[in-house]
Amino acid sequence: MNLQGDVIIVATRNQGKIKEFSHAFAPLGKKVVSMFDYPEIPDVVEDGQSFSENAMKKARTVGDSLGMPVLADDSGLCVEALNGEPGVYSARYAGEHGADEDNNRKLLSELEELRLGEDTEQPLLSPAQFVCVLVLYDPATGQLIETKGTVDGWITSNPAGCGGFGYDPLFYVPEFEKTMAELTLEEKQSISHRGAALRQLVAKLQ
Ligand code: IMP
Repeated sequence: MNLQGDVIIVATRNQGKIKEFSHAFAPLGKKVVSMFDYPEIPDVVEDGQSFSENAMKKARTVGDSLGMPVLADDSGLCVEALNGEPGVYSARYAGEHGADEDNNRKLLSELEELRLGEDTEQPLLSPAQFVCVLVLYDPATGQLIETKGTVDGWITSNPAGCGGFGYDPLFYVPEFEKTMAELTLEEKQSISHRGAALRQLVAKLQ
């Protein structure tokens, strides 16, 4: 796919994602343009059963509306003790307009409930995985490029850090002995699901 010009359009209004994409594309000389620059484009209803279906739908819907190549990200957190939840429902785990804090509170209370009665001080509640599927779509040719990245960690009952977004304060990364929200942008990018998916995407483009 030939991505001409010095901008890349990303089909999102998530400020956390926009910040990470801007950081990742800056060294490639590309400025990220988001859906905040296209207020007339409505939010795409994410009714797919998988990250891939949702990413595909977002890329195609926005790409066809704008008539330009578009990158879409669908991502979320899969928690082992909750049989993979919240998964594709990560953004609206505590309700349609739930803020990150509400989602985090709900996740902790679900996990604390599971171990009610267990006599343990262990802060690590369950293994968990962040997943990110990226789809780049060019409406001129119909070409699609899809990549997927994951990162494994644990949900901790001791939230920490104020970087990142979403569930980052609850996601403990053993390699750094810190939560994702305590990492710098560079550190997060180096190990994160989004960073991994982006590196594959850039490799495929080259
Ligand atoms: P969606 O891709 O817009 O459906 O929403 C993704 C949701 O998954 C976000 O709103 C967060 O709750 C969560 N999520 C995805 N990626 C991350 C991340 O890098 N850190 C923390 N939470 C994330």
